[in-house]
Amino acid sequence: MFQKKHNRPFLIAGPCSAETEEQVMTTARELVAANIDLFRSGIWKPRTRPGVFEGKGSIALPWLKRVKEETGLKTTIEVANAKQVEKALAFGIDVLWIGARSTANPFSVQEIADALQGVDIPVMVKNPTNPDLELWIGAIERVQKAGVTTIAAIHRGFSSYGKSMYRNEPYWEIPIELRRRMPGIPLLCDNSHICGNRTELLNVAQYALDLNYDGLMTETHCDPDHALSDAAQQITPATYKLLIDKLDFKREMTDDSDFLEYMDFVRKQIDEIDLEVLNLLGKRMKLSEEIGKHKKHNRISILQVKRWNEILEKAKDMGRERGLSEGFISHYLSAVHQESIKRQVGVKGADEI
Ligand code: PEP
Ligand code: MN
Repeated sequence: MFQKKHNRPFLIAGPCSAETEEQVMTTARELVAANIDLFRSGIWKPRTRPGVFEGKGSIALPWLKRVKEETGLKTTIEVANAKQVEKALAFGIDVLWIGARSTANPFSVQEIADALQGVDIPVMVKNPTNPDLELWIGAIERVQKAGVTTIAAIHRGFSSYGKSMYRNEPYWEIPIELRRRMPGIPLLCDNSHICGNRTELLNVAQYALDLNYDGLMTETHCDPDHALSDAAQQITPATYKLLIDKLDFKREMTDDSDFLEYMDFVRKQIDEIDLEVLNLLGKRMKLSEEIGKHKKHNRISILQVKRWNEILEKAKDMGRERGLSEGFISHYLSAVHQESIKRQVGVKGADEI
């Protein structure tokens, strides 16, 4: 169900929350022009603080039924417990999704999975709020074990502390690793909850498509400025259509022999460089062990902050001259340094010095 058609991503759009029948119907009608594949709307809203709009609840279910009847669009809502699953099924909702806060809680996911036993409805599992890949995989597995055969993962970003340009940090390496571990699970990007604003929506969507994501989930509202939840990140269906039109859809591969030959030529060089780097890293770690022996023998602490700082600062300067970003250098060298410390802690043979 979630696969691309003619390189076009699977498109899910609709409001953060169903607020009125009129708002749901207007938004859905306008989205038909954008040719979306699935209409989303929250009904039970997991809000961070109490006392704000927490969704319309069950009274909004017939509105979604009407969306389907009048526009032909399939519908999806978030479910967080067994009762909500039951109600969604009773109203003919086509696809369910498990929200980020629920994915973070195995009790909730299991309750939802139990309610889905024997009901093979497509389910989308958002990443948990915390950057924990195992928890995300665990939630997908619980739904699989209930017998659900059509499952997609939604990347909506991860909570972090402090200021950031994103509402939820994308940490792209986590969905990339999910893709490696579960290649059969379609991967969708919820650019709205990653961004938290309108200005970055296109960039994040394009980034996801460049990583070969299968689809997008984007919040759209007929009057976004007056939305009762997530107003800052919602866009009108007309803006949404413009955004989709601006996206550059990529193919996963081609059989063009010139292109493939060129790729092969460059990739061989890359493989050789990777091998050289690995050989050098192996040598470097051997030297770390040597130093480790001497530190142990002389009862000197392994971590030498001054030296570590010098290595890092020097590498940042040298990296800059070679067009390598500071962030990359510090990630790379931190990994090397951690491994070096581990080797020194476990060093044997210091007595033979
Ligand atoms: C939503 O999609 O409106 C929502 C609440 O999402 P998340 O679970 O990603 O916060
Ligand atoms: Mn929302």
